[in-house]
Amino acid sequence: MDLSLWAELAYLLSSVLFVVGLKRLQSPATARAGNRLAALAMLIAIVATLVENQVLSWTGIVAGMVAGSLIGAVAARTVKMTDMPQLVGIFNGFGGGASALVAASELVRIQSAGTALVLGDGFTIAVSCLIGAVTFSGSFVAFGKLQGLVSGNPITFPFQKTFSALLFLTLLVLGASVMGVFEVGALTALTVFSIFMAIALLLGILLVIPIGGADMPVVISLLNSYSGLAASAAGFVIGNNVLIIAGALVGAAGFILTMIMCKAMNRSLANVAFGAFGGETGKAAQLSSGDKTARSVDAEGAAMILAYAQSVVVVPGYGLAVAQAQHELRKAMDNLEERGVDVKYAIHPVAGRMPGHMNVLLAEADVPYDKLFDLDEINDDFGRTDVVLVVGANDVVNPEAHNPESVIAGMPILDVHKAKSVIIMKRSLSPGFAGIDNPLFYMDHSLMFFGDAKASMTDLVREIREA
Ligand code: NDP
Repeated sequence: MDLSLWAELAYLLSSVLFVVGLKRLQSPATARAGNRLAALAMLIAIVATLVENQVLSWTGIVAGMVAGSLIGAVAARTVKMTDMPQLVGIFNGFGGGASALVAASELVRIQSAGTALVLGDGFTIAVSCLIGAVTFSGSFVAFGKLQGLVSGNPITFPFQKTFSALLFLTLLVLGASVMGVFEVGALTALTVFSIFMAIALLLGILLVIPIGGADMPVVISLLNSYSGLAASAAGFVIGNNVLIIAGALVGAAGFILTMIMCKAMNRSLANVAFGAFGGETGKAAQLSSGDKTARSVDAEGAAMILAYAQSVVVVPGYGLAVAQAQHELRKAMDNLEERGVDVKYAIHPVAGRMPGHMNVLLAEADVPYDKLFDLDEINDDFGRTDVVLVVGANDVVNPEAHNPESVIAGMPILDVHKAKSVIIMKRSLSPGFAGIDNPLFYMDHSLMFFGDAKASMTDLVREIREA
């Protein structure tokens, strides 16, 4: 059997492993194994590509792999959980950039060999470069917004959408020229291609700057989907099946995730892209509290209520991640269970700042998976629950979602207000991500447990032990 047949078999194997790996990401119990399978698939694909192409000089490749692996490992180990969307954003950007470079180098290779560019090849090169460049620059703007390097507010200017539409039309025209359909005056093919790339990079920036920083996780998921499409197109350019398949999987998975996030916020993709939501948190925040009063409770009081309850449901949110209180939370709940309390965890699909954020946090603290319940599974139980302990969550438990006039109207929420009593652990009455007041805090059966979630939880563990 010749080498290329072995390579195709290896590509088939890695494609199957990618699919199985993705499937395993569905559940927290199998997600780690799924990730390892996908990594193995990538290794097989890389080795097959290198062997098939009979690489003559390994120096650059090995140096690149070592440097890339080191940077990736250090970044993944040191990044804070709450900064994960930024890291994913950068990875997407590099993925898009790499696909564009692969396609561009193929164009340069064809031109320097003096062979005519086939229309189909020209098309896939133009598509890969366009999507790859938009993903590259867009991802770095998204990273900058989340990291606070670029203003999180929507950045707009007059006729912005018209300008972006004109740029897109120009790209279509230049793209046709890159494909070899026609020549642009006296410009060389390389010059046309360079202008094409520069405009594509500019378009990526212009598409992301008008979106509020608060919507960046959704944008990052969408850009993740783009990076997959760019990779798939690059796969067509160089005739590499595994790149086509892996790119299509990333493209589809990223798009599905984007739609899940939009649905969980009850927003359309168009509203995320053009709605400029999330940039006005300050204004909405000033409307809060008014003459309403919230009752507060200290660690001792909260411990008494929890320790003498029969059923407790914990609702974790973004604040749990910020405070890194997951281990203390686990200890507190273990103590309650030892006292015979039935403890469950309710997971909202967009609690935190990225999909699966709460699952990952609780998994870090070894909370058993069978104690975690999705919104649909647990929402009907709140009416029968003695105490709900909300830890750093806000929007996902905001009953304002049932008010048709509210900005979060229609967002599916965890109906914790139906429980017999609710203890809310957060530092103040400040709003959450959506920037709106939360009537839950002022309800008769609600108690605010003010403070940093980790410090409060440490006190709570101590008090439950003494209760
Ligand atoms: P929210 O952002 O609504 O609220 C988090 C709360 O945590 C804040 O009100 C804050 O209150 C509190 N908090 C912050 N730091 C601490 C701390 N150290 N200790 C205790 N509390 C703290 O979070 P939710 O998880 O309820 O909702 C997520 C929001 O993010 C939703 O609106 C969702 O649409 C949005 N979103 C989610 C995405 C996802 O994929 N998960 C993606 C994009 C958006 P205080 O300052 O008073 O302490």
